Amino acid sequence: MFDLTGKVAIVTGGNGGIGLGMARGLAKVGARVVVAARNPEKSDAAVRELRELGSDSSAILVDVADERSVDALVNKTMKHCGRLDILINNAGVNVRKPPHELTLDEWRQVMDTNLTSAFLCSRAAYPHMKALGGGKIINIGSMMSLFGAPFAPAYGASKGGIVQLTKSLAVAWASDNVQVNAVLPGWIDTNLTREAREQIAGLNERVLARSPSGRWGSIDDLSGVAVFLASAASTFITGASIPVDGGYSSLG
Ligand code: NDP
Repeated sequence: MFDLTGKVAIVTGGNGGIGLGMARGLAKVGARVVVAARNPEKSDAAVRELRELGSDSSAILVDVADERSVDALVNKTMKHCGRLDILINNAGVNVRKPPHELTLDEWRQVMDTNLTSAFLCSRAAYPHMKALGGGKIINIGSMMSLFGAPFAPAYGASKGGIVQLTKSLAVAWASDNVQVNAVLPGWIDTNLTREAREQIAGLNERVLARSPSGRWGSIDDLSGVAVFLASAASTFITGASIPVDGGYSSLG
């Protein structure tokens, strides 16, 4: 039920952090993972690691905020791998400023990288999934899909948008056997949140105090949900947003 042998998966931002944690999960159950990000050295290192796990992995450089670059990513994947079964829209950035200090360029950078990218990648992937008779799209939201934060106006808007985009894609493509779901990670220890801990005084203590699990998540905490949502085990689940947060969003 969870076997992904013979399946091809694109993971945007798969060269580090949560994307790499998810890519590891897919690689362990047989998927061929295409690591799609901007940094060539980080991408090559991720591919080496995924190959050691048995995946016939490769890297394709992409800027997910750029329409032409996204279309080229999907075309190259089809050319090199011959099929596309799974897309994980994970690439993301944050600019941490209160709303009154955020510039329009910063707003656009966050929205384009986190939200418009998921639309562009999904739109490019869909015809190939439809032609195959089905596919799986997994969008990465956040606790900020649910909650507000004074330092994350654009980030929160982009992650709220991910939940609604997920529902629209899910209902549009359900009859094509393409399932579209979102994962809402809690506070996970990655480069992104290491930077946040440096910039926001008291964040580490606040996260630990509010987390029922009493710890930050690790990137490998995201491996299982990626396998579940990418596999036949979740065929009748679509349009859902699943928190993977150690209970963070359940605490009143
Ligand atoms: P990282 O900074 O470790 O990873 C971000 C990834 O996105 C990198 O692989 C980066 O690769 C890639 N990326 C950024 N911009 C672009 C772009 N324009 N084109 C292609 N790739 C890009 O952060 P996380 O692993 O923490 O974040 C991954 C996702 O998870 C994000 O969407 C984030 O919002 C979300 N998230 C993270 C949480 C956490 O606690 N860490 C909590 C909730 C959600 P490169 O630089 O090589 O392009």
